[in-house]
Amino acid sequence: MSSLTQPAAAVPGRFGPYGGRYVPETLMAPLEELERAYEAAKADPVFRAEFESLLKNFAGRPTPLQHAGRLSAHLAGPKIYLKREDLLHTGAHKINNAIGQGLLAVRMGKPRIVAETGAGQHGVASATVAAKLGLQCTVYMGTEDMARQALNVARMRMLGAEVIGVESGSRTLKDAINEAMRDWVTNVRTTHYLLGSVLGAHPYPTMVRDFHSIIGREAKQQILAAEKRLPTHLYACVGGGSNAIGLFHEFLADRAIKLVGIEAGGRGTHLGEHAARLAAAQGYSGARPGVLQGTYTYVLQTADGQIAATHSVSAGLDYPAIGPEHAWLADEKRAEYSAVSDTQALAAAKLLARLEGIIPALESAHALAGLIERLPQFSKDDLVIVNISGRGDKDMDTYARLL
Ligand SMILES: *Cc1c(COP(=O)(O)O)cnc(C)c1O
Repeated sequence: MSSLTQPAAAVPGRFGPYGGRYVPETLMAPLEELERAYEAAKADPVFRAEFESLLKNFAGRPTPLQHAGRLSAHLAGPKIYLKREDLLHTGAHKINNAIGQGLLAVRMGKPRIVAETGAGQHGVASATVAAKLGLQCTVYMGTEDMARQALNVARMRMLGAEVIGVESGSRTLKDAINEAMRDWVTNVRTTHYLLGSVLGAHPYPTMVRDFHSIIGREAKQQILAAEKRLPTHLYACVGGGSNAIGLFHEFLADRAIKLVGIEAGGRGTHLGEHAARLAAAQGYSGARPGVLQGTYTYVLQTADGQIAATHSVSAGLDYPAIGPEHAWLADEKRAEYSAVSDTQALAAAKLLARLEGIIPALESAHALAGLIERLPQFSKDDLVIVNISGRGDKDMDTYARLL
C-alpha cells in the first residue's frame, strides 16, 4: 500500500495522479519563483515566527475547541466538539492563508497582491492582510457575486482594496480566477497572486494546505488535553477544500481516524443543480477527472468536457473543481466524501444556533448536516470534531429569507 506522504514528496505538487502544473508558458517562471520563495520561507525561523505572531496577535489564534454539550445530548450520538474558526478575525479560516501568502509577498519584494473572491470572504481576508502589511490590493469578483455580497464589497473598499467587477462567463468565482491570473501574468514583477483555496497549479495546493494545517495541530493538542484520547471522526465542509485539509492534515497518518468531507448537494443530483465532485456514489452526476485552472482533479463537466454550471445555497462551496489532494484522498479511500442538500444545511444551521448559540456560515452548516445524516452509523463512544469554518453574519440575508 502506498504511503500517504510519499507521492507528494516524490513528485512535488502531485497527489497520486492529481495536482501538477497545467499552465501557459508565461506562468511557469512565476510559479517556479513562488515555489522557491515558499520553500525558503518555510525553512526560515524568522518567517515562521512572523507568521505565528500574526496568527496569534492579529487573527486571534489559537481558536477554541468547544464541547457542544447541548448539541451532543440532542442528537444522542457521538460526543461532539466544534473547532471554532468562526471566531477568527474577518470571520473565517481564510485569514490563516492570507497572512501566510501576504508575508511571502513581502519577502519576495512584491508590493502588490491580486486575489479572486466568490462570496467575498477571501477578498476581505486578502484586503485585511494587505492593509496590515502595507501592500496594494486588487480583488477580482464576478458582478453577479458583487450584487449578492454588497457588504463584503464595501468592507474590501473600506480596507483600501480596489474591487474589479468581472463581466465574463457566469460572472462568478471561476471567471474571477481567470481575470486574477491574467493580471498576475501581466504584472508578475510587482505582483503576487494570493489564491484562496487548495486549488490551482503547484505550489498553491501544498502551500495553502500548510498555512491552514495549524487548525489540525491545535485541534489535536486540544482534544488530547480535554479527552485524553484522539477523535474517532473529523468533519469539514469542502469547497476548494482548504479548511478541510487544514483540519485533516495532522491526522492523515493515523488511519483509525475517519476523515469526512461534506460537499454541496444543492437542490438535486442532476448536473447543474449541485457542486458535489466526489459524491457519485450518492448519484450526483457530472464529475470526472480533468484540468481546471492549472490543476488536474475532479471537475464537474458536461459530456463534451465543458465546465458545468453549479449550484449551492452556499457561495463558498459553489465551485466546479476540488483541491487535488482531496481527489487523491478519495481515490485512496483515506477520506470519505458525500454531499448534503441546501435544505439539510439550512436545518443544521438553525439547530446549531438554537442549541449552542452559534450561527455558522452556510458552508460550515454543511459539515454539521453531514454528521447528522450519518448519525445511525455512530456509537456512543465516538468522539467527533466538526470544523466550524466561519460565522454566519455574511449569510443572514439567506437565513432570513429561507428559514
Ligand atoms: C470559503 C469558505 C469555505 C470554502 O472554502 P474551502 O477552501 O473549502 O475551505 C468554507 N467555509 C467558509 C466559512 C468559507 O468562507
